[in-house]
Amino acid sequence: MQVFAKDKVIFSFNQTNKPVYFVDDGEIFTVETDDCYSGQIKNETIKRPDIDISIMDCSVGPIYVNGAEPDDVLCVEILKIDFAPQGVMVTSKGLGVLGEKITEPNTKIIPISGGYAHFAPGIDLPLTPMMGVIGVAPRSGDIHCAVPGDHGSNMDTKIITVGSKVYLPVAVKGALLAVGDLHACMGDGELSGTGIETAGKILMKVTVLKGTRLERPMVETADSMYTIASAADFKEGVHAAVEDMVNYLMKKTGLSFPDAYRLLSATCDIQVSQVVNDLHTFRVRAPKALLHLGGI
Ligand code: CA
Ligand code: ZN
Repeated sequence: MQVFAKDKVIFSFNQTNKPVYFVDDGEIFTVETDDCYSGQIKNETIKRPDIDISIMDCSVGPIYVNGAEPDDVLCVEILKIDFAPQGVMVTSKGLGVLGEKITEPNTKIIPISGGYAHFAPGIDLPLTPMMGVIGVAPRSGDIHCAVPGDHGSNMDTKIITVGSKVYLPVAVKGALLAVGDLHACMGDGELSGTGIETAGKILMKVTVLKGTRLERPMVETADSMYTIASAADFKEGVHAAVEDMVNYLMKKTGLSFPDAYRLLSATCDIQVSQVVNDLHTFRVRAPKALLHLGGI
């Protein structure tokens, strides 16, 4: 099995990044990743303003997927996530929803062992592994890895976890997949501006889907289908995620727009992935069993 080292990274997603790793359609492989600070915060004396932000928020890749062509969909199945023995959460002025209340930067190192993040004495958090960044080359432009979009990237979505399938719209030959930003635990919103940021490794499988097209990412879990959209504005992000889900329901059920729209309203939930990146990320959840859904 191929293992891709964490030292080959991109800082932005675009169509002209040179691929550094190569996989076949259907291949299972491992990607090693640093945390979102590129490993700079090793202990609690190192604060967020001390680090080199130019090497933050990078992603490992690009990974060229043989057989992927523009307008295909790349399915990335997350099979396993292993974490380094510690994670970090920083606070710093302006960071997160209440960033104006932070006067002094502060770093907390959180040991990880036995399936838990040991946050404080008596507060041991079961791991909720997730990948903050997973994306492919966008249809146009050069988009920093910290910014989510129609190509995926920094969606900070907690349902992008072990067992999930992430569906991404391919814009360029080879797709140019890149991943990173593992979190040992994170709640919806990423409210203080970070999850429990950790290095680690991800076992994943890629599959190229032909004859189907996506505008934006979707995610499939054991019991749900999700559309995902990112925008600066709440209404705009929700609108895009809802529109994607109605289109998906029409395609899967054969219902008319008014009926698919009603079905959405009766059974689906809008959820917030994160409200701390430049663009905020929203998702719509549809229950698979009730609506006989699965795949895209
Ligand atoms: Ca992130
Ligand atoms: Zn992160």
